[in-house]
Amino acid sequence: MWKDVLNNSDKKKKYINYVNDWEQKIHSFLEFDPERTSAESLSGGGRFSGVPYAVKDNIAVKDYRLTCGSKILENFVSPYDADVIGKLHSSGAVPVAKCNMDEFGMGSSTDNSALAVTNNPWDTGRVSGGSSGGAAAAVAAGLVPFSLGSDTGGSVRQPASFCGVYGLKPTYGAVSRYGLVAYASSLDVIGVLSRDLNLLGDVFDMIKGQDEKDQTTVKLDPDLPSDLQIDDGKPVFGYLGGDLGLDKSVEAGYRNCIDMLIKQGYSVKEISIPALDYVIPAYYTIATAEASANLARFNGVRYGYRSKGAETPLDLMKKTRHEGFGDEVKLRILLGTYVLRSGFQDRYYIKAQKIRTKIINDLASLFKTIELLILPAFPTPAFRHGEAELTQYQQKVADKFTATANLAGIPALSFPAGVYGGLPVGLQLFAPHSREKLLLKGAAIIGREIPVPEVPGYRSIEDICGGQGR
Ligand code: GLN
Repeated sequence: MWKDVLNNSDKKKKYINYVNDWEQKIHSFLEFDPERTSAESLSGGGRFSGVPYAVKDNIAVKDYRLTCGSKILENFVSPYDADVIGKLHSSGAVPVAKCNMDEFGMGSSTDNSALAVTNNPWDTGRVSGGSSGGAAAAVAAGLVPFSLGSDTGGSVRQPASFCGVYGLKPTYGAVSRYGLVAYASSLDVIGVLSRDLNLLGDVFDMIKGQDEKDQTTVKLDPDLPSDLQIDDGKPVFGYLGGDLGLDKSVEAGYRNCIDMLIKQGYSVKEISIPALDYVIPAYYTIATAEASANLARFNGVRYGYRSKGAETPLDLMKKTRHEGFGDEVKLRILLGTYVLRSGFQDRYYIKAQKIRTKIINDLASLFKTIELLILPAFPTPAFRHGEAELTQYQQKVADKFTATANLAGIPALSFPAGVYGGLPVGLQLFAPHSREKLLLKGAAIIGREIPVPEVPGYRSIEDICGGQGR
């Protein structure tokens, strides 16, 4: 039904009104302009002809701004399309919005955006998660059928779980990063968010693949033994035992999901990841080290914000970065340069790389006994804006369940696991390298028993376009 929404002026008008109503409350978009679409791009046909979608604002869409949620890029307009946008274009899908995000992807709330405050559609006093918070809020409210985000340490899966939608972090290298503004290049991957699991799978199929413009892209073997038939083959699930320090509602969601699978006759094994407690120090060492190098390019010289009144080139760079970056970004650049400073690499960066290898090995041996691992996505449901419920430090520690998959490079998918106390709880599945299909099947098995929740005020596109409007 989303097909042709933008090709029909009556439908398009109703759709725009629905979006504008929601946007007054949640502010998920930094830009929304379905009128910009040229007739030429709508005339093509294709699998997603006339289907609108939204894009996190660190992914380049030609002629749209590319702010990364930062003042330093506030007025920067992208001169080209990311590889993923080009691929979706050829299927007829139309980018209509750029989504708010934590500045340069650094955060778990989207409150670290310098440009707007995004609210959770389930409770506007709460965050939508981060860093792809706008992308998650928009799909939860039904403003677009899918959105693109990026995931370096959990930024697709964590907001998806706060908003009650699916979020896929593909295998590292499965999707081209050409046109994705780099945060931590060895961890970054573009992912998909949607309420519709089949659609999410289709979009992933469309955007994946090798790209000569990104040398880290890998060829996924379509014949991998990932085609477990849901009806015949039953995947073996694993889950983490012990006290995981979860909030009560997440604990209940986790337990209920495991019990449901056991009741359905699936084999479910308790497992442990020995290196899990070292994930956060390793992740924040590697991610900040890479960020400090990647963000060196924002210096006021070639593009982006430029401070006025500087007298020397050095002064220009200092002032531009001082005025253009927010506090969290500065903190991480400092941390990154600290762990990389000469003579100290052994103590931090190299050690972090060793932990990373240990995590890869831990997971590889786990996947000899199970096929899919179920984990919490985040220890709490959506928290209130500001730091009263969760400080920035606690938010970082809470990344341990998601960042594990980024360090290992394996695919992971967060899925809705029920509504507790009026807020959605999300969990996630991990699968071995390049087994995205298996992940989707695992989520489909769970989704038959635990459906995607509907946020109050949500309307389907059929209802929006066919109904009387509000
Ligand atoms: N919360 C994590 C961080 O702040 C995740 C970031 C991401 O995946 N972009 O680094």
